[in-house]
Amino acid sequence: MMKYINLAIAFENMEKTSSRLKLTGILVELFKKTNLQMISKIIYLIQGKIRPNFSGVEIGIAEKLAMKSISKSTATSIRTINKLYNKIGDLGDVTHDVLIKKTQTTFFNEIVTVERVFNTFCRISNLSGAGSQNMKMKYISSLLNDSNPLEGKFIIKILLGTLRLGIADNTVMDALSLAYTNSKKNRKLLENAYNVSSDLGKVAQCIAEHGLEGLDAFKITVFSPIRPMLADRIKNVDDIFIKTKSIVAEYKLDGERAQIHLKNNQCIIFSRSLENITKYYPDVCKKIINKIKVHSAILEAEIVAINETSGEYLPFQELMHRRRKHKIENAILAYPITVNFFDILYLNGENYVNHNYTTRRRKLIKLIDEDDFVKLVRMELVKNSIEVENFLEHSINSGCEGIMLKKIESKYKAGIRGGNWLKLKPEYQNNLGDSLDLIVIGAFFGKGRRTGKYGTVLLSTYDDETDTFPTICKVGSGFTDENLDQFYQALSNKIIKKKNYRIKSKIKADVWFEPEVVIEIIASEITLSPIHRTAYDMIKKDHGLALRFPKFTGKIRLDKIPEAATTQNEIINIYNNQKKKI
Ligand code: AMP
Repeated sequence: MMKYINLAIAFENMEKTSSRLKLTGILVELFKKTNLQMISKIIYLIQGKIRPNFSGVEIGIAEKLAMKSISKSTATSIRTINKLYNKIGDLGDVTHDVLIKKTQTTFFNEIVTVERVFNTFCRISNLSGAGSQNMKMKYISSLLNDSNPLEGKFIIKILLGTLRLGIADNTVMDALSLAYTNSKKNRKLLENAYNVSSDLGKVAQCIAEHGLEGLDAFKITVFSPIRPMLADRIKNVDDIFIKTKSIVAEYKLDGERAQIHLKNNQCIIFSRSLENITKYYPDVCKKIINKIKVHSAILEAEIVAINETSGEYLPFQELMHRRRKHKIENAILAYPITVNFFDILYLNGENYVNHNYTTRRRKLIKLIDEDDFVKLVRMELVKNSIEVENFLEHSINSGCEGIMLKKIESKYKAGIRGGNWLKLKPEYQNNLGDSLDLIVIGAFFGKGRRTGKYGTVLLSTYDDETDTFPTICKVGSGFTDENLDQFYQALSNKIIKKKNYRIKSKIKADVWFEPEVVIEIIASEITLSPIHRTAYDMIKKDHGLALRFPKFTGKIRLDKIPEAATTQNEIINIYNNQKKKI
């Protein structure tokens, strides 16, 4: 049994600090106090969840219901609660305040344990349909009846999804490593296990129960997504052939990445950011279950929209029609697709991530019997830059956005951008012709047409070495009215009270956001800047790098998590290349 107050105090302390070191310290103390059975639950709760992201389980309580529950258990009128909410701006804090008044008049009945809170959250998330609202309210009120102010505050915050402690996965792994092995050095082992399971709770449970040996034996399991291997931008094609005689080139299709898990005639598809997207592609599951006869498999493919008459590939945006809430059957008919396989990670109990590219591709060729719907991504062995250029031209002429160059000996490195996959688009070769994927971390209110909305947003790159988000530019151009509405909505539930410790900015924004939304930007060049923090002090003292004339392309990259955005190192490379050309 673990008292919930221990967790609530840790939450309160974490909310107060913006230092990664201090956060880690608080987590280590918390983990040390946690018993074996509870560790995975604690991990989910500190992330404001009850299951890993990919499970799609959400507690999802509406504000109104939370208010009613607070009102019921504190004998405070909804009007008073509303008033306080308007004044304070956070229902967790409101709960805290009204519970302080209540504690002066009543005694508590029962101790609130983490088990009880977690189980109640699970019950709430399982409820649906008629009468479910009343049941949810009963559950919440019963918890609040026994809670002290601090406990109540963090119960409501988790229920509403507003617990934003801003703890990065890496910080949690540092703390787990310190708590269970007394050293940060073993983080790598934890990371490997996380990369193949995408489930920090499961990883924590494993190290707590079995120590480092348990992590060594950590296995890939079907229906737990593997964090996808990522590609680096390539700077100069000739550089590749200095070290290697040949490399494989594949078409880089402009669609949606799909990690397809198959077992016992069941199929689940995960997106690049590991969201379960099966519901958008029922046709894919149906056809693949019939077509690919395996006991179990994990395969990777790019789903691409096509013109059925000409067979031509269509751009990524065409796929977004599948995101409609209703009548997916109509979208299936109106926007036909193909599934283009490019990798195999697991087959009938055997792990393939440690096999090299050639072995994996051979296995894939054996497994996939191509037809109009199911295809293998086109590939060719290339031996010099002329062959690369030719292949690139073919791919562009077929409606692809570029090519992928893959090292023949390379293993599948889950979750890693390790230089074994290189992406080449035609524009990369001329300065900054290519777009960048940047993270929205702040905003400034607009004037005129944009009053009440964000007029300008503050963007960052991702520094994968320190796991932070340094600023690179402000952008206000390229937004249509429709974009602005969309933006306002997409960002409204990402607002945080104060700047997250992972955000590196000298500029003070009107509003700060949890770094989650990635957008596509084009710009004319990269320049030195005394204001922006990307590559700060790395090229010139007291200067960072910034974008000149940045413009929003209209694309919100829903398929990208912030850690998959353009990295600081990529910007430095583009900057250095740009200088060479001048
Ligand atoms: P980017 O989104 O620009 O970082 O490029 C990486 C993405 O390209 C992957 O996540 C896939 O969705 C996509 N892609 C298209 N074709 C391939 C391919 N042949 N191999 C690997 N990824 C591919």
